Amino acid sequence: MAKIVCVLYDDPVTGYPKSYARDDIPKITKYPDGQTTPTPRAVDFVPGHLLGSVSGELGLRKYLESNGHTLVVTSDKDGANSTLDKELPDAEIVISQPFWPAYMTAERIAKAPKLKMIVTAGIGSDHTDLQAAMDRGITVAEVTYCNSNSVAEHVVMQMLSLVRNYIPSYKWVIEGGWNIADCVERSYDIEGMHVGTVAAGRIGLRVLRLLKPFDVKLHYMDRYKLPDAVEKELNLTHHTSLESLAKACDVVTLNCPLHPETEHMINDASLKNFKRGAYLVNTARGKLCDRDAIVRALESGQLAGYAGDVWFPQPAPQDHPWRTMPHHGMTPHISGTSLSAQARYAAGTREILECYFQNKPIRDEYLIVRGGKLAGVGAHSYSAGNATGGSEEAAKFKKA
Ligand code: NDP
Repeated sequence: MAKIVCVLYDDPVTGYPKSYARDDIPKITKYPDGQTTPTPRAVDFVPGHLLGSVSGELGLRKYLESNGHTLVVTSDKDGANSTLDKELPDAEIVISQPFWPAYMTAERIAKAPKLKMIVTAGIGSDHTDLQAAMDRGITVAEVTYCNSNSVAEHVVMQMLSLVRNYIPSYKWVIEGGWNIADCVERSYDIEGMHVGTVAAGRIGLRVLRLLKPFDVKLHYMDRYKLPDAVEKELNLTHHTSLESLAKACDVVTLNCPLHPETEHMINDASLKNFKRGAYLVNTARGKLCDRDAIVRALESGQLAGYAGDVWFPQPAPQDHPWRTMPHHGMTPHISGTSLSAQARYAAGTREILECYFQNKPIRDEYLIVRGGKLAGVGAHSYSAGNATGGSEEAAKFKKA
């Protein structure tokens, strides 16, 4: 029987919810490209309930324990004596969400001789040293598409909030003011602007589609061109380099995975190619950007605003400069963990576990690493190597 270690974020400070703002969530059975939403044999949770925190347990306890397995759930994941580290020696499966990632570095993988599978309950497996997983023959799987549309909604929200100067305006209301000139001295319409996405995968393409009705001019940069019909439908301009995209756009959003090829793609040099006063929205991964270069660009005015929900490491240390830099609209990493998204990736995690324990193939679209090499979606979108360097800094986060 297997031991499964599941690392989840803490419950709300007011305790696990006793009731919810809404009674149900829409039932979605297919994603825009026709892929089905997760299809486990059953689930033991109520869709729309909080599943991603420790007490929610991704709804997995009944299923795992009734099959004789041991489930350990913890939020204690960083630092030398974390619960995660203590549980690793006999763990067969480690599950975590990118919002509160269990950084599965080579050192941690070495501490887990029985480890067979690492599951990302969500999308983005850069918190695992993929090279180390390949070297050890560990399977890495994630729940592809589960929250891509959730993230795209967040991207559009954050673009609008930056361009229209929403957050400072909201702040004036809370402070009892009516300071219209203070609110609007940095407020514009997005209509007519050039908006571009780095990567037009599931999230990037969804962002383009959501933006079309705003009458903006749409651009994308990807290694592969989208089908002609899609380019025509959305009137897209394709760019083959970040430099070309940045020079053309007023607003840029990053939607590619973090892997050695994309790490720090936004840096002092690449920021010089952006129009002065451009806006940058990054809900993909914090490490796509050089942290301090972003701060410098906001301070100099090269960027008019930066928003997103991804940081490095996570949780972000108290002194992370993105908490206090000017003109930012950062949230903690939440875009892909709405209650709606949680229902999908909890079901997807259950589907992956059912396949694993019944010796059935895991869907190709969920696979990142299998049999010592990149596989499935991983073979398409990732490059071999490791992007977890520096993750030990997450131990510097202390609750206020
Ligand atoms: P997809 O796999 O559908 O899309 C990723 C796209 O990135 C692909 O089109 C891929 O293109 C492209 N890409 C990869 N490398 C490069 C590169 N070097 N330059 C340009 N494009 C590149 O994934 P999703 O759209 O669903 O998710 C994208 C990322 O967003 C995830 O990997 C994750 O990091 C992040 N994410 C964040 C969430 C959050 O809560 N904030 C939740 C979900 C995801 P190609 O076809 O050429 O391989």
